[in-house]
Amino acid sequence: MLTDIRSLTLEEIQDRLKSWNQPAYRARQLLEWIYRRQAGSWEVMSNLPLTLRERLRAEFTCDPLRLERRQGARDTTRKYLWRLQDSSFVESVLIPANPALYGDPSDRHTLCVSTQVGCAYGCKFCASGLKGWKRNLAVEEIVGQVLGVEREENPWHPSGTPSGEGAPQDADAARLASSRLVSNLVIMGMGEPLANYENLLKALKILNAPWGAAIGARKITISTSGLVPQIRRLADEPLQFRLAISLHGATDQTRNRLMPVNRKYPLAELAAACEYYLQKNGRMITFEYILIEGVNDGLDQVRPLAELARRLHAKINLIPYNHVEGLPWRRPPEPVQRAFLAALQKQKVPVTLRQEKGHDIDAACGQLRLKTERELAAHAAASRPATRRPPSA
Ligand code: SAH
Ligand code: SF4
Repeated sequence: MLTDIRSLTLEEIQDRLKSWNQPAYRARQLLEWIYRRQAGSWEVMSNLPLTLRERLRAEFTCDPLRLERRQGARDTTRKYLWRLQDSSFVESVLIPANPALYGDPSDRHTLCVSTQVGCAYGCKFCASGLKGWKRNLAVEEIVGQVLGVEREENPWHPSGTPSGEGAPQDADAARLASSRLVSNLVIMGMGEPLANYENLLKALKILNAPWGAAIGARKITISTSGLVPQIRRLADEPLQFRLAISLHGATDQTRNRLMPVNRKYPLAELAAACEYYLQKNGRMITFEYILIEGVNDGLDQVRPLAELARRLHAKINLIPYNHVEGLPWRRPPEPVQRAFLAALQKQKVPVTLRQEKGHDIDAACGQLRLKTERELAAHAAASRPATRRPPSA
């Protein structure tokens, strides 16, 4: 199998090109095509000599991710479903910082990125873990989600084809502008990011690098269900990302009910790892807390939650649960959500109640994939020839 060019760092590409006796500046020219101009083929790289392009083609790939489906919500949140080479599906969600409510264009965009196909952690409320874990995403499949969205959102690439034919004169300017579309990343799509540690870290190094997608480390948030050893490892990395913990319960009893990972790494261990992260990193941690009716929305959770947040200088992000078809859980009514918020505010901890931007497009992780797979299965079943034997004569 050929190596994907988007899985390599500048240094790795430089080494390879040097061994081909290419001048040093070629690596940056090549990366410019990949990360600034969203090139999806070698042909368009017109400032690279033909012989070099032939050699690159023989040893590397640069195919963009294949878009299977795109959905846009009323408030312009957009969801992308990608079909990977092995026909697995993964999702990315693009969320404008300022939804263009009154025609104001939004310049900052956050992209929610997936890191695995499925998830092994089996949280009881989550669509991603419903069918278990299939595989880790490769570096280029993580990086490719950012590049793929920028390509798809670029009017110059209406169908994602890399051909330069017919492109307007100012195509370069258009492409350059749109390559800055994604300014923030949240690693909160399908999968447990810290269970795909090596690939995630390499992808983030590439997405952070000035020669790559140039997204600042402070603008990248990794969300984890609480893998304690990896949180400690992440704290020791030279690149310092923001950390979000999917807490969803402030006592072991409540958390055990929702998240099997809590039996392996109970709250006391998780809190100690977060403390270490805070010590090393100094940045505020976020607690993600989904509100699920009758499970974790009782006021008994408020005091332990506030205590934990105070101890770890964490900010709490309350998220009304998104219903997943086939699962029994529901979001609490709005007055209950607001009462939970008010009780935390009374405890004087920083807390917000998220207004779900992607609620109407199945925004919670794993849901579009689940829906598409169910539809494809139903379609396959409907078109399958009947297997019943004809009645014997
Ligand atoms: N595995 C990581 C990151 C992916 S999940 C983690 O668990 O943190 C990203 C976030 O979406 C998590 O906080 C997760 O708990 C939340 N989530 C999953 N299913 C949800 C649903 N149906 N409604 C609302 N949030 C959900
Ligand atoms: Fe996996 Fe996160 Fe979903 Fe839990 S919430 S099953 S860790 S993706």
